[in-house]
Amino acid sequence: MGEKVFITGSTGFIAQHIVKLLIETGYTVIGTVRSKEKGEVLKKLVNFENFSYAIVPEISAPGAFDKVLKENPDIDYVLHAASPFTYFTDNPEKDLIEPALNGVKEILNSSLKYLKNLKRFIITSSDSAIYSNVDEKNNSLKFDESSWNLMPRELGTKDAITAYYISKALAEKQTVEFRSIHKPDFKFVSINPSYVFGPQAYHCDPSKINESNQMISDLLTKTKSGDKLDIECGGYIDVIDVAKAHIFAMQSDNVISERLFMNNGHFSTQMLLDLINKNFPQLNLIKGKPGTGKEDIKILAKINNDKTKKLLPWKFISLEKTVIDVVNQILEAKKNESSKF
Ligand code: NAP
Repeated sequence: MGEKVFITGSTGFIAQHIVKLLIETGYTVIGTVRSKEKGEVLKKLVNFENFSYAIVPEISAPGAFDKVLKENPDIDYVLHAASPFTYFTDNPEKDLIEPALNGVKEILNSSLKYLKNLKRFIITSSDSAIYSNVDEKNNSLKFDESSWNLMPRELGTKDAITAYYISKALAEKQTVEFRSIHKPDFKFVSINPSYVFGPQAYHCDPSKINESNQMISDLLTKTKSGDKLDIECGGYIDVIDVAKAHIFAMQSDNVISERLFMNNGHFSTQMLLDLINKNFPQLNLIKGKPGTGKEDIKILAKINNDKTKKLLPWKFISLEKTVIDVVNQILEAKKNESSKF
């Protein structure tokens, strides 16, 4: 049996890729899920004896992780990937900020209490912990691994996007404070991805695409000349690179206490559309204004993640490959669905 990894939110888009890679690398994995039904579905998909699930319905409930960690004191690594990620809520403080913050507090406290052999605690943070959603779109600013989103918690009541960004910043900050207060024997690494695109690890249900891939999925419905293209832009990274960074964060001593800013450049919806039209002309999607994506991203703040790129010994996957992989998977899933009828 390989070393034991505990990962929260293991039904999630990114976490499933991490689980897959962990299993392939030889680790034994326990993943938290919110219900038995979700656990059984995931267990079937992973289909490997070294994977088991534990039910944690709500990460922010007091003592949420106590039982499972008490029963598994030999865990070597904790990966905290669970956090609410949705832009659809009427109560962003309650649905985004509170669970993110209390969830990280619960997993840290239980880890300290029960995991005496714990080597590392890795948090799936975000570029939202590096800049606010307002600063991200201010091209006079520049951000790197040392930058923090300092937007105050009170502004999180404004809207879901602002609240999500604040939730990630406060959650990651909590790990820093915990470290300085408790000085635990285990080490910390933070993974800070920009917008994560990529295919699903095991199963793609086109009607339930995760939040970040929704942007690509939505473009595939734009077939009528009257369909409008909302121009969105930001930083991007492929989900495989994010999963690899988590494993690397467990294994490499060079990244201890670092924040890995996972970003492979900027995208705009026009760029995504151009790449889909180039590679899938048969879909006959609207064209928008081809080639103008470079203009769209001029509003964005500059990013310097050279430190991260130097630490990680591989090259990130290109936006074109990511888009091709996502679209191929959605088309394949839709084909399989329609052949059932
Ligand atoms: P996801 O697919 O929505 O996965 C989130 C996971 O967390 C799910 O398993 C979800 O369970 C679980 N979860 C959420 N709130 C919970 C709660 N209150 N109690 C228990 N479990 C809860 O999102 P993802 O894209 O994989 O994101 C994973 C992590 O990466 C998050 O921390 C997110 O902030 C971070 N991140 C994502 C992106 C991106 O673009 N995708 C970028 C940067 C950072 P259910 O599905 O059962 O609710």
